[in-house]
Amino acid sequence: MKPKTIIEPFKIKSVEPIRFTTREEREVLLKEAGYNPFLLPADDVLIDLLTDSGTSAMSAKQWAGIMEGDESYAGSKSFYRFEAVIKSITNMKFIIPTHQGRAAEKILFTIVGGPGKYFPNNTHFDTTRANVEFSGAEAVDLLNEVGKHPEIRADFKGNMDVEKLEAFIKEKGVENIPLCMITVTNNSGGGQPVSMQNIKDVKAVCNKYGIPLFLDACRFAENAYFIKIREKGYENKTPLEIAQEMFSYADGVTMSAKKDALVNIGGFLAMNDDELAMKCRNLLIVTEGFPTYGGLAGRDLEAVAQGLLEIVDEHYLQYRIRSIEYLGERLVAAGVPIIEPPGGHAIYIDAKRFLPNIPADQYPGQSIVCELYLEGGVRSVEIGSVMFGKYDKNGKLIPAMMELVRMAIPRRVYTQSHIDYLIEVIIEVFKNRDKLKGYKFTYEAPMLRHFTARFKPII
Ligand SMILES: *Cc1c(COP(=O)(O)O)cnc(C)c1O
Repeated sequence: MKPKTIIEPFKIKSVEPIRFTTREEREVLLKEAGYNPFLLPADDVLIDLLTDSGTSAMSAKQWAGIMEGDESYAGSKSFYRFEAVIKSITNMKFIIPTHQGRAAEKILFTIVGGPGKYFPNNTHFDTTRANVEFSGAEAVDLLNEVGKHPEIRADFKGNMDVEKLEAFIKEKGVENIPLCMITVTNNSGGGQPVSMQNIKDVKAVCNKYGIPLFLDACRFAENAYFIKIREKGYENKTPLEIAQEMFSYADGVTMSAKKDALVNIGGFLAMNDDELAMKCRNLLIVTEGFPTYGGLAGRDLEAVAQGLLEIVDEHYLQYRIRSIEYLGERLVAAGVPIIEPPGGHAIYIDAKRFLPNIPADQYPGQSIVCELYLEGGVRSVEIGSVMFGKYDKNGKLIPAMMELVRMAIPRRVYTQSHIDYLIEVIIEVFKNRDKLKGYKFTYEAPMLRHFTARFKPII
């Protein structure tokens, strides 16, 4: 028989109890947290969808790798395994471990960034944007038009607008664009995939002007699987072969291993350019550690190496992509507005359509985030004007392009019944949407304000 039910391709060896709270308790807890779920103790959360970053369940083999880790300061066996596995996927010449993705970004943009420089990307992730801007450079998002419309279904809504890229290069000047980046999948734009054709087209433009192309490859395996099921000519290729082809068009990679390497901490920077690699390693020694451990323990390097072998497994990727799609289908059937089609790692509620009466400067996404917690102990995150809003010179909010609520699904952590519970909670909040209120800031930090902000409901 050809089974219709796609099952979790693992069985559970070790469990972690989750704690139930009442709505009354959650009202007190959320108020104490300044209506910002980032500030909630995790123990007060029932289903934690804040992020898929560093929240994966590791396999028995990864845990075995933790015991096997070689903790030698220099030249550890675990580093060579880490390097060999990453080379086998990316074919990059230089593999530089970092403690997470943003550390790789910090090193890269400290070297190539600075005032007067511009970095195009399909959509910069928040830490990427922050690291570009911290260097004094400008981060520019050149997402394809279709990616900006949550309600339009298309196969590759993460694609970069290639024409805009070329116009942008001509406008700003090649000398001011040290590199171009593509984020796969496009996290801040709904976890939407980028097609192989788009990667090739962007590479062709970059080649024409001699600009290196870097992949922000946090979810390269999920992207590869979307290419397999959606792009013509790839249906019979393995996810690994597709990933290898994706990387073949890149000159460098930044990666947070906390996503598609199935680990709780780790990252890397990879590239082909000798001189750039030397500069990165020199800075790595100052900020992270010796080049063969770069801010990680030997055991972490082992876990990353093993995780990268597991992530490209086709059964895993089929289950992963299907389980997100399942959640999306149920919500769409109930009329809940989400970014369609579902991305690879998360479902994004479209807060503008969910709460059309709450304006951007009262943060409709934050309102939904708070209510999901109050209703069912679910923790999600606003990706909208709280995260990306800016102020004009009169102190008026310049809203983000989209007002979204992200529910990121940790890898191999929740089962289908957790997801069914989640669906119930979301639908209940949706039914009561007329009662939801806007929020205002009572505290905000100058950068990455969403992490530490405090709010107050507008009554
Ligand atoms: C998570 C993430 C990063 C940053 O990685 P950290 O490990 O959290 O520092 C960069 N880019 C994208 C697309 C991400 O999802």
